Amino acid sequence: MGYLFKKNLWTLFYILFGLGLSLLVLISYMQYKNVENDLRMELNYLTNATKETTKHYFTQQEIILNILDRQLFDGKGIRNTENIHSLFQSILKINKAIAGFSVCGPEGNVLIISNEKKLSEIPNLRHYNSNFNMMFKKALETDRLVIGTVFFDKALNRWILPLHKSIRDKKGNVVAVTSVGLRLDNAQSIWKAQIEPGTELEIFLDDSWYRIYYSSHPPFRNPELYTKPLSIHDLEHFEAGSSLLKEAGMTFDSLRKSGECAVVHFKSPDAGTWLVSWQYLPEYRLWIHYHLTTDRILNKVTNYWIINVVSFIFIFIVVYYLFYIINSFEKRKSKELLYQAMHDNLTKLPNRMYLQKNISSWIYEGAPPFSVAFIDLDNFKNINDSIGHHYGDLMLVEVARRLKTSMPKGTMIVRHGGDEFIMLCREHETKKLSQTAQTLIKAISEPYEIESMEFTIGVSIGISRYPLDGTKLFELLSAADIAMYHAKRSKNSFAFFTSELKALRNRYSLIEQELRSAIEKEELTIVYQPQIRKDGTLHGVEALARWKNKKLGHIPPDEFIKIAEESGFMPRLGHYIIDRAIKEIGFLQKKSGSVFCLSLNISIRQFSEKGFVERFLKTIDSCSLDPSSIVIEITESLFMEELELIVETLHKLKRNKINISLDDFGTGYSSLSMLRKLPIDELKIDKSFMETFMVDKESEAMVKAIITLGKTLGFSILAEGVEEEKQFQRLNELGCDLYQGYFFSRPIGLSDLEKFVIEYRR
Ligand code: C2E
Ligand code: CA
Ligand code: CA
Repeated sequence: MGYLFKKNLWTLFYILFGLGLSLLVLISYMQYKNVENDLRMELNYLTNATKETTKHYFTQQEIILNILDRQLFDGKGIRNTENIHSLFQSILKINKAIAGFSVCGPEGNVLIISNEKKLSEIPNLRHYNSNFNMMFKKALETDRLVIGTVFFDKALNRWILPLHKSIRDKKGNVVAVTSVGLRLDNAQSIWKAQIEPGTELEIFLDDSWYRIYYSSHPPFRNPELYTKPLSIHDLEHFEAGSSLLKEAGMTFDSLRKSGECAVVHFKSPDAGTWLVSWQYLPEYRLWIHYHLTTDRILNKVTNYWIINVVSFIFIFIVVYYLFYIINSFEKRKSKELLYQAMHDNLTKLPNRMYLQKNISSWIYEGAPPFSVAFIDLDNFKNINDSIGHHYGDLMLVEVARRLKTSMPKGTMIVRHGGDEFIMLCREHETKKLSQTAQTLIKAISEPYEIESMEFTIGVSIGISRYPLDGTKLFELLSAADIAMYHAKRSKNSFAFFTSELKALRNRYSLIEQELRSAIEKEELTIVYQPQIRKDGTLHGVEALARWKNKKLGHIPPDEFIKIAEESGFMPRLGHYIIDRAIKEIGFLQKKSGSVFCLSLNISIRQFSEKGFVERFLKTIDSCSLDPSSIVIEITESLFMEELELIVETLHKLKRNKINISLDDFGTGYSSLSMLRKLPIDELKIDKSFMETFMVDKESEAMVKAIITLGKTLGFSILAEGVEEEKQFQRLNELGCDLYQGYFFSRPIGLSDLEKFVIEYRR
């Protein structure tokens, strides 16, 4: 889940990044378009303005020419020219744009001229140059002002733009042509004001395609651009340009007619893309033509783009940082969860899961040796029960703290559960390990002061070593556990997992394994040991289990019953023994015709099994045995378990006439009050007393006390382990009721028992 979220988080980031990037491109494109549009409008405006300025400029010149004409001609011919020079000078003074005048006859012969030269020195103007002649001829054909081509006037030492205008008599015949030489530098300064940065302006004469102005190429630098019409190459360019106009739905012709301004892209194969404008000035038959490199657009838009990219980067750094924070927050959260899952809440120590997950750093191929210690507090349950869990918890926290502080660096301490701790320690030499264990025991046995109460506790430690005692965690743990149980016997001590313990463990697992198939293999049998009355008659028999295994030989019941209990096999084994003994004795009683008691040993696990009593009664009933002839032998260890439940079960059995005998009596610590509480019929004095009571006064006193106590409470007293006659006689004197032991009979098989029963009946 966490992984998925993490993955999705970054996917989301990349999606956002992609979207952001697309948006950036889109915005940048739109900005480009906007800038281009702005520039188009600007160019449109500029072209229009230039057209107006140009028109205004030439109109002004035309007005001056008209005035001049009226001054020079009276309708019949040239007026008196006496004052003509002073007139010229005053006009030249007022109008700085004019470099000079001339008036010619229709044939080009100069009639009047503004400079001081003698007329005879001035050649016919029509021979001045071919362009001049061409424009002069045009002027003869029209009433309007004719703009000529640019030329260098040597006399004036200037670049001149000539203007021509014909003067007619009343009949309409041309009598003269007035020419004005405009100072090109003056006109240029007007047009120059119309140049915006990055733009170029050209003004052409229509039809002839002569330039009269080119902003970036003044005539003194590039005279050929003015003295010749457009080259074929340039015209081709304009043709390409006009085809672009066509794409925009316009032609040069339509522009001539409408006077509109066209702004279009102009793609030149060698000079890149331009934004160009064309506008026609019909009054003076001029083309106003601007061009603008797209660099200008790029320059302008680049600023926007830089802002875009910078903001994009900034935003995404912020977003990235945000995602990074969320991600690390998630990481931290899952780390915390993992920490919680792998640590004990109370002591904050790592738990079993942590141990499982991290064992690979201890166990691997070629790993150095280390040791595992199983630490179990002695009688911690008592503390919990007597003073409460609150103190128990505080004590565990303190134990954990002491474990941590008294251990060498690099030790892994794990709370295994309850009052059990596990330690993985790099130490592995016996001597040093023993010292470490002793330090630990000392540390833990120091008194605990918890909320002004003082406690002490013992600890048992079992130690196993890697790779000596196992190469897998569970092997090492079980080895340390076994060693710990061994240590428990002497309390507040430690024990190593030794070869003997190892052998015991191997035997244990072998027994456990073999026991599971013992019933099917019919390896289990039952022997019966007679119980005799004072008068020597047969009272009953105790059923004792026997197991002979192919691999293990005879296994004593003490051993396999314990293992059966621990491995959970006891209920099944117990039922088998009970069923078989009841069946065999039922059969024998019927066969022999004599009735006697059957004592059955019932272990702890069996007793607390659900439905035990019901099943037990049913078995007795099915063999038609009298329930009052059945005795159940229990030991005091039973009362360590849930007492309430056990007392209830005992009463249930008692109500069904089953007798109850307290086995191995005198070895445990049953209280008098408990004996009174339980529905007991019989006390079995433990066989260990038989060895001592004849010689040891204390032991004899104990046996006497047991008999007196039992009698007082109304129990019958059975002595087990009676091996000698004198033991029997002394017990008899002391008031014992029943006897069991080798003196009368060893535990015997069913057929021997049959003989025994027949013999004792007599
Ligand atoms: P226990 O119930 O105290 O059984 C008496 C033990 O004393 C038996 O050992 C018996 O053989 C032994 N014994 C009898 N007379 C003498 C004697 O004169 N001298 C000496 N030294 N020993 C004598 P066993 O058969 O080896 O049984 C040992 C224990 O195993 C039993 O102790 C009982 O606790 C347990 N056990 C045996 N069979 C069963 C069974 O079927 N079910 C259960 N739950 N436990 C059983
Ligand atoms: Ca017994
Ligand atoms: Ca016994």
